[in-house]
Amino acid sequence: MSTTTADGHVHLSQEERDALRAKYRRERDKRMRSDGNDQYIEPTGRYAHFVEDPYTPKVERKPVTDEVTVAFIGGGFAGLCTGARMKQAGIEDFHIIEGGGDFGGVWYWNRYPGAMCDTAAMVYLPLVEEVGTRPTMKYVLAPEIWRHALRIAEVFELRKNALFSTNITQLEWDDADSRWIVHTDRGDRIRARFVAMGLGPLHKPKLPGIPGIESFAGHAFHTSRWDYGWTGGTPDGAPMTKLADKRVGIIGTGATAVQCIPPLGRDAKELFVFQRTPSSIDVRNNHPLDEAWFESLKPGWQKEWLMNFATLQTGGFAEEDLVKDGWTDIAIRVRDRVVRDLGASGSILDMATIQKAFEDSDDEKMTEIRARVDAIVKDPKTAALLKPWYRQLCKRPCFHDEYLQAFNRPGVHLVDTDGKGVERIDEKGAWVNGVHYDLDCLVFASGFEFATDFTRRAGFETVGRGGEKLSDHWQDGMRTLHGIHVHGFPNLFVVGLVQGGGLISNITHNLVEAGTTITAIVKHARETGQEQVEVTPDAESAWTQQIADAPQSFLGNPECTPGYYNNEGREMTRRDKLNVGSYPLGPVAYFQYIDDWRKSGKFAGLTFRRAHAPAAKAS
Ligand code: NDP
Repeated sequence: MSTTTADGHVHLSQEERDALRAKYRRERDKRMRSDGNDQYIEPTGRYAHFVEDPYTPKVERKPVTDEVTVAFIGGGFAGLCTGARMKQAGIEDFHIIEGGGDFGGVWYWNRYPGAMCDTAAMVYLPLVEEVGTRPTMKYVLAPEIWRHALRIAEVFELRKNALFSTNITQLEWDDADSRWIVHTDRGDRIRARFVAMGLGPLHKPKLPGIPGIESFAGHAFHTSRWDYGWTGGTPDGAPMTKLADKRVGIIGTGATAVQCIPPLGRDAKELFVFQRTPSSIDVRNNHPLDEAWFESLKPGWQKEWLMNFATLQTGGFAEEDLVKDGWTDIAIRVRDRVVRDLGASGSILDMATIQKAFEDSDDEKMTEIRARVDAIVKDPKTAALLKPWYRQLCKRPCFHDEYLQAFNRPGVHLVDTDGKGVERIDEKGAWVNGVHYDLDCLVFASGFEFATDFTRRAGFETVGRGGEKLSDHWQDGMRTLHGIHVHGFPNLFVVGLVQGGGLISNITHNLVEAGTTITAIVKHARETGQEQVEVTPDAESAWTQQIADAPQSFLGNPECTPGYYNNEGREMTRRDKLNVGSYPLGPVAYFQYIDDWRKSGKFAGLTFRRAHAPAAKAS
């Protein structure tokens, strides 16, 4: 029998654990499908406008044909942080080229009601100290995050560097001239010494390939292009009054849906939540940040908080848990249990002990999460269907204090599909288990492409030395040094998580580090009069090989219920591993490694070259 101990945690018997394993396996098997990632489709035809910008009209402008030191592709936090670092280093002549009508990246696009960040603002908002913002809450809402992005742009005067509503059509390396030629859909032809790409891991909306999806005749939109014109309301939380007489359906119950279902449930006449797999919903416990406390923090606090969060979230030790949230809670539980089990058995630290401790803590955590559903959701049938039956990190953990409560509203209906998904869509609505649901509006909370080919997600080709295409170079998976440099593509930097730190619980930490690294390299090249910088084939191979050789992280676990964390349940090939893997020793080790690498000034693994001069190998 399970017991609750003095620490407030549930402890399970071995029998209960075995029963859980069996239940998890049954639930997983129900959801396995042969088409994996191919079940999703690109928004085309009736839905082609889902990738367009509904927020900012495109203003005609003359094509730009200038020359700059850096062209940065993407105006989200990657572009903003790199832009800030470049300005701090005295580099002024660069463009930030962005498809949207303003800075902000995901926070420009995602304006759905209730949107917020699940990572504490003290660590998620980048460059807080540098730009002097004060987060109002522990977790801040999307409009505040967007305002922070715009503040970075304002403080570092990045707006004058920006080309908005502009999509890249091709990047082309001119080796004789040591310049990138940047082509855009505005007819621009920009010459850039360096190009950096910060496109985001999850930015291209995807749709479920449900039979009949094209036939729906009601109103429809993807959560990343919320249509307030149709729903009424605002991203700041004004009620969506136009939904008062509408029957709305939402497909998906991932992190996005969890945030927008409470306001939708409040405002729609009726809301039908089509669920394939329930999310795990831990407590949010949001609260205002005390102004006096915030002002008392010592300069340099954000760096300390960032490393504290990254350390604890990945199983390390720190004197204090500064952030103290659901992300650090699970990691600390696992870590403490490993320590306890080792102490009790006197055994040495090995993988089996760690895995057992992980599984035990996870079982307990998920049992608590399921008990929370029972405590909140009044209808026992609905509560049963909202319980997640998998290990916590099989899917993106969610944190919310109003999501489960929304199902107590009379107008909110959970339509569970028993792992199968919506059966069919027709002109008037959706079918599940042979029942038709009439809908005025269908909201697709169906997520974003992940780990599909880089070039496909980017929407343009990058052509390097000798006409080599990046899509060909990466045909068998990404190959980089540090997740940033690619051989055959001089003066090109890739900014992201893959093959780098891979800290998924705090994406912006990865981006700030990358911005600092890129700026250090550009500055060094300028100061020493080098025209080209490129990773050596050996350094690229060695780095790539260690990503391929790394033990499969829990996130790729094929035992998990399918989702984008585990390649939809399909065994990871070497190529898949290279496209999602990160530094095998973890984010903290990566951040420390890259800091040392930068500070050494040697830039090991890179070759700097004056124009047409033989390569000068970095030591
Ligand atoms: P997800 O990919 O996480 O969710 C897609 C949802 O659609 C899943 O619930 C999926 O079910 C469901 N679905 C897919 N096909 C069907 C079908 N045929 N019938 C019914 N349901 C279907 O997308 P999200 O937009 O929710 O989140 C994407 C990521 O964005 C998150 O993981 C997170 O990284 C990020 N995010 C971050 C936030 C933050 O706080 N910082 C907030 C919101 C999002 P199933 O689970 O069965 O596959």
